[in-house]
Amino acid sequence: MKETKYIFVTGGVVSSLGKGIIAASIGKLLQSRGFKVTNQKIDPYINIDPGTLNPYEHGECYVTVDGHEADLDLGHYERFLNIETHRANNITTGRIYQNVIEKERRGDYLGKTVQIIPHITDEIKRNIKSLGSKGEYDFVITEIGGTVGDIESLPYIESVRQLRWELGKNCLIVHLTYVPYISAAKELKTKPTQHSVKALQEQGVQPDILVLRTEHNISPEMRKKVALFCNVEPSSVLQSIDVSTIYRVPLNMHNEKLDEVVLKKMGFDLAKIPDANLTKWIQFVEKLENAHEEVHIALVGKYVQLPDAYKSITESLLQACAYNDRKLKLDLILSDKLTEDNVAKKLENVDGVIIAPGFGQRGIEGKFAALKFARESNIPTFGICMGMQCMVIEFARNVLGYSDANSTEIDPTTSHNVVDIMEEQKNILNLGGSMRLGAFPCKLKKGSKAYKIYGKENISERHRHRFEFNNNYKEEFQKAGMICSGINATSNLVEIVEVPSHRWFIGVQFHPEYSSTVVNPHPLFINFIKAAIEYRMERISSNKAAKQ
Ligand code: GLN
Repeated sequence: MKETKYIFVTGGVVSSLGKGIIAASIGKLLQSRGFKVTNQKIDPYINIDPGTLNPYEHGECYVTVDGHEADLDLGHYERFLNIETHRANNITTGRIYQNVIEKERRGDYLGKTVQIIPHITDEIKRNIKSLGSKGEYDFVITEIGGTVGDIESLPYIESVRQLRWELGKNCLIVHLTYVPYISAAKELKTKPTQHSVKALQEQGVQPDILVLRTEHNISPEMRKKVALFCNVEPSSVLQSIDVSTIYRVPLNMHNEKLDEVVLKKMGFDLAKIPDANLTKWIQFVEKLENAHEEVHIALVGKYVQLPDAYKSITESLLQACAYNDRKLKLDLILSDKLTEDNVAKKLENVDGVIIAPGFGQRGIEGKFAALKFARESNIPTFGICMGMQCMVIEFARNVLGYSDANSTEIDPTTSHNVVDIMEEQKNILNLGGSMRLGAFPCKLKKGSKAYKIYGKENISERHRHRFEFNNNYKEEFQKAGMICSGINATSNLVEIVEVPSHRWFIGVQFHPEYSSTVVNPHPLFINFIKAAIEYRMERISSNKAAKQ
């Protein structure tokens, strides 16, 4: 049985410093030295999970294979480490309190007064240690959401303080801060870092390693000064400088010797540990950075003002472009603003169109306008979840001729409910955690495009939805040229539709974007970008011919 070591990543000064990327980078570097690692995220909000949060509040809702609606940082962990995370990898204050209150109601506390210390902190520690208790991992890296000093994070910092005592050398604290550059004075300022470390120390926690986010190089003198003020060794003050891609961060942190410092501080003999093997990662980053020729993709959705709302899709596209030696030019198009009159102008120069997932009425008609144009113009088109449902509705309206076709989510009274709610969803009243969630198997139709792309018959993909293709219309769609190329064999639900006469028109009820990783990019995204490149080349050569 492995003795698991625990690393905590806290953040200070301001939010949005990229704690998730630093936590994932630590994981990546330790993994690249042969260790088995997992990352965990703690969210200090009261929601049980982010499933009910508007994407504008907290970015995309990520979904794990075991059907947990999770913080988007779990997506970073999976993309960086090429591992699967689960429900236990993401905890929130809401879940901690729910567990404690359930135990109180059951009488588990034997008449005691239930308090933040020790009951809430014990529950927090139990949730952190549960990942290590199976002896599966060498390292559990726990990222504490929020900023040190927030009311919400107090019980977590207190739990870290206690764990430090319990675990001794098997516990390490990395604190991420910000060093602002004052351009009028042309100076970097370390005072906010000093204050944030002081705030941590006031709560009884001494960080072992400081990672300073900065836009300019931090000199050795300045590092010494920070070390002196903050009670850490100068070699443990590292910088994380702005980079053009988040995928450079692990490489930069390796240059800063982050993995070496972590291992030394946790009592490892470096001579006995293999060097970091980052060959595949470096190959990917080089491909990403060396690609200059563009491929132009439009992502049509209703949350486009906050790019984090589609984080996994944009990262999957980036990966697929890099592997196709192309640079991604991404247009985020607000579907609310798209109409049949302006769609041609917005989409005529793109090489591929993605219709995004989503919920509810807003922006839906714009998605239909985009789909009609892309289908009729033979532009590679990829519909994801709601995007696939929109493909079905648009096809029913404009090919089958059912002008009022709709999903009952949008129009419960439609006479052509080509997308409808699943029977088992009908009586569910709670919104949280009640969708079809997590990975389900799917059988692909031999000879279909989907089958060719995956190169196998049986696949498994993650879901997050309530509504489904209505099987009563299946025959009619297939006769008119939209086939159902992926089916769940147990429930008979349609998981993939495609139009074989089109160059690339595929809609998937599931979310392939959740399982595309840096070293294992998703075949659907890879193939979609390939089709977009081909389409671009054809357009360029026919434009040239027209000019001659
Ligand atoms: N709103 C649709 C449903 O619930 C699609 C959900 C999604 O795109 N994730 O079925």
